[in-house]
Amino acid sequence: MARIGFIGLGIMGSHMAANLIRAGHEVTGYDLVPASVEKLLQAGGKPAPDIAAAVAGAEVIITMLPDSPQVAEVVLGAGGVLEAAAPGVLLIDMSSIAPETSLAVAASGEEHGVRVLDAPVSGGEQGAINASLSIMIGGCAEDFEAARPVFEDLGRTIVHVGPHGAGQTVKAANQLLVAGIISLVSEAIVLLEASGVDAERGLEVLAGGLAGNRILDLKASTMLARQFTPGFRIDLHHKDMGIALSSARSAGVSLPVTALVAQLVAAARAQGHGSDDHSSLLAVIEGLSDR
Ligand code: NAD
Repeated sequence: MARIGFIGLGIMGSHMAANLIRAGHEVTGYDLVPASVEKLLQAGGKPAPDIAAAVAGAEVIITMLPDSPQVAEVVLGAGGVLEAAAPGVLLIDMSSIAPETSLAVAASGEEHGVRVLDAPVSGGEQGAINASLSIMIGGCAEDFEAARPVFEDLGRTIVHVGPHGAGQTVKAANQLLVAGIISLVSEAIVLLEASGVDAERGLEVLAGGLAGNRILDLKASTMLARQFTPGFRIDLHHKDMGIALSSARSAGVSLPVTALVAQLVAAARAQGHGSDDHSSLLAVIEGLSDR
C-alpha cells in the first residue's frame, strides 16, 4: 500500500481517489475547490491546504487536471509538485493533455529526480466509479511496473503503450473515435425520428449488430431523452479534438473526418453546450435539419 498525493478531485479524480482509499492506500488530496477536498475527507482521505502539503511524504503523486496549462502550473510552477516532491517519487499524470506537455513534464521531472508517467484514461465517470478505466501509459517500462499496482486499483485495461507522451497520443486517438461515434449515433437518431421510426427500438437492434458500440450501450437512452448532464463536458472534448488535430499536424498526416467532427464539437460549444455532456452533439446535428 502506498502513500499517495492526489491533485485534481473533479468528476474523475474524486472517484479515483475514493477507489484508492477503498483499496487501502493513504490518500492526501488537494483541489482548488474546497468542496471537492471536503468530499475526499468524507471518503476517508486526508485533505491538504495546498500542493506542497498534498505531496509531502508521498511515494506516488497523481494529477487529474483539466488541460496542459493546469498540469504545467501544478507540476512545474512555483510551489508546485516538483518543488515539493522528494527525489525518487513517482509522478503519474492521468489528465488528458498535449503530448508535448507530457514530454516537458518528464524532462523537468528527470532534472528533479522525479520519475514521470503519462497515464490518461478512458471509460468516463462510470469507469472511474467502477474502477474499470482503460489506462494508456507512456514512460519507461520500469516505472510502469512500479506503478502497476496503483493502476490495478483504478482500471481494468492497463497497457504500457510506449515512451513519454505515447499515452497522450493514444488518448487523442481515443477521443477522435468517441466524438466521431457520438456524431454518427446522433445522425442515426435524427434519421430514425424524422422517418417516423421508433428510435428506441431502432437503436436496440443496431446495438446487437455490426454497428454496435459502447456509445450506443451507455448513452442511447439519455440521448433519446435529451438528457445532457455531464459525464464528459463538451469543453473538455473540444480541448481533446484540438490535441488530436495538432498531433496529426506534427505527425504529418491528414485526418479529414476528425477535422469535420472537431467543427461539430466547436459548434456545440459555440451554441452554449460547453458544460453539457459530449452527447449534446445530438443537439447540433438536429439543428442542422432545423429539428
Ligand atoms: P473536472 O473539471 O471535473 O476536474 C478537474 C479538477 O481539477 C477540478 O476539480 C478543478 O477544480 C481542479 N483543478 C484545476 N486547476 C487546478 C489547480 N491549479 N490546482 C488544483 N486543482 C485544480 O474534469 P474531469 O472530468 O475530472 O477531467 C479531468 C481530466 O480527465 C481531463 O483532462 C479530462 O479530459 C480527462 N477525462 C475526463 C473524463 C470524463 O468522463 N469526465 C474521462 C476521461 C478523461
